[in-house]
Amino acid sequence: MSDSKLTTTAGNPIADNQNSLTAGPRGPLALQDYQLVEKLAHQNRERIPERVVHAKGWGAYGTLTVTHDITSYTKAKLFSKVGKKTDLILRFSTVAGELGAADAERDVRGFAVKFYTQEGNWDIVGNNTPVFFIRDPYKFPDFIHTQKRHPKTNLRSPTAMWDYWSHSPEALHQITILFSDRGIPTSVRHINGYGSHTFSMINDDNERVWVKFHFKTQQGHKHWTNAEAENVVGKTRESTQEDLFNAIEKGNFPKWTFYIQVMTESEAKNFNYDPFDLTKVWPHGQFPLIEAGIIELNRNPENYFSEIEQAAFSPSNIIPGIGFSPDKVLQARIFSYPDAHRYRLGTHYEALPVNKPRCPMQHYHKDGPMRFFDNCPNPEAYYEPNSFSGPKEDPSMKEPPLPVDGSLERYDHRQDNDDYAQPRDLYNLFDEAQKARLYSNIAAAMTGVPKAILERQLAHFDKIDKAYGDGIRAKLKG
Ligand code: NDP
Repeated sequence: MSDSKLTTTAGNPIADNQNSLTAGPRGPLALQDYQLVEKLAHQNRERIPERVVHAKGWGAYGTLTVTHDITSYTKAKLFSKVGKKTDLILRFSTVAGELGAADAERDVRGFAVKFYTQEGNWDIVGNNTPVFFIRDPYKFPDFIHTQKRHPKTNLRSPTAMWDYWSHSPEALHQITILFSDRGIPTSVRHINGYGSHTFSMINDDNERVWVKFHFKTQQGHKHWTNAEAENVVGKTRESTQEDLFNAIEKGNFPKWTFYIQVMTESEAKNFNYDPFDLTKVWPHGQFPLIEAGIIELNRNPENYFSEIEQAAFSPSNIIPGIGFSPDKVLQARIFSYPDAHRYRLGTHYEALPVNKPRCPMQHYHKDGPMRFFDNCPNPEAYYEPNSFSGPKEDPSMKEPPLPVDGSLERYDHRQDNDDYAQPRDLYNLFDEAQKARLYSNIAAAMTGVPKAILERQLAHFDKIDKAYGDGIRAKLKG
């Protein structure tokens, strides 16, 4: 017999875990069989709401090692010296698929990193693409509805997708990435990560610069064609989980080089487009990548649910030396991510072990689900201000003021905005074979879409390059 004793959740020993308590061998059951009731009640509660987006995920723990000095841009202590290491957790995901979706699907991959720094958690909740489909968060629910199931058929709807996109030329850049070769990575070890939004860094002299974050894979890019992916999904729906988990178990630790791009406040003012527009990159030629460190994933979670499903990332988690920007989509995510976690996990979700900061954490939020944390050292200090040595704000952490101007208005974000130039730059990077695959990937995704919607969308591709539109037309006919 094993020494390990089975108990109830209250620690009471259990005499029999094989046979229910019944009146006679044929039943009926007795309600006093508490362990039977508890097992069934727990089973009923084993699921929490899945994420509305980024439901299917894979993740692991690791470290950031600083390799280059970027202290002229940021006072963030995790970058304070070359060689410094900070623990992190990284969760990858697909965006549209549900929890049980196949891994090898054409979709953007989430790339969410939580750095457990000495100044609290810093989260970069990015993607494997440097841009996104929208630049105004007002459109996020509408856009996501087009990626999810049709209310009547309960099927994904190519018509909804292309109808929405054909009315939203700002999506063209991300569409071109999504339907390019990089749209179906073989595994998340073979993707780049991008913070996508513009953020800020603040140095010891309290000077602000605007920054973008890039994580470049050291494993190289690897992707599947549509046909290869169909074959993979036919054999396993868990290709990414298998690849990432097994690589780490074998000690084959994936790594990414961490870079920043920097733009000064005055460069941003005089720039020829809005540097806070999430549908646009900053060209490398003008804003070169500055190396900062290496991230490595080197430890699998022990329990997928508690450490990956319950991991909660939010762009609202910033540390002294790292700040936000006026990017409208970032601003909305600062609200909506913690709101999603409070709904999905519970009020004090940041008290869960995977989310808990590794530094002291002291606040005056009080009760509610998952109230695991202690009182302040002096329990009299449960409001603020108080006379009982409770935690106080630190004015030295104040950011420099950010000048803003303009009238309150619903500005047309499409007016005078060039939605074609940057997708064209990307398109021009592709060789003829890559372009041919781009055309067929797009044509394949347009099956069953009404002609009027197709024409509206093809006119946008024509504006990127006539050959782009014509290439898709030819595949649609073929
Ligand atoms: P560069 O020629 O300096 O760099 C091209 C970039 O494109 C590289 O970062 C490369 O990533 C990336 N890339 C190559 N193929 C794909 C693909 N199928 N999907 C997504 N990214 C890809 O370019 P510029 O900076 O002048 O920008 C030109 C275009 O490159 C942009 O319009 C944008 O679409 C794309 N791009 C630009 C980025 C930026 O931050 N400037 C970042 C990512 C893409 P890698 O080096 O890993 O091969």
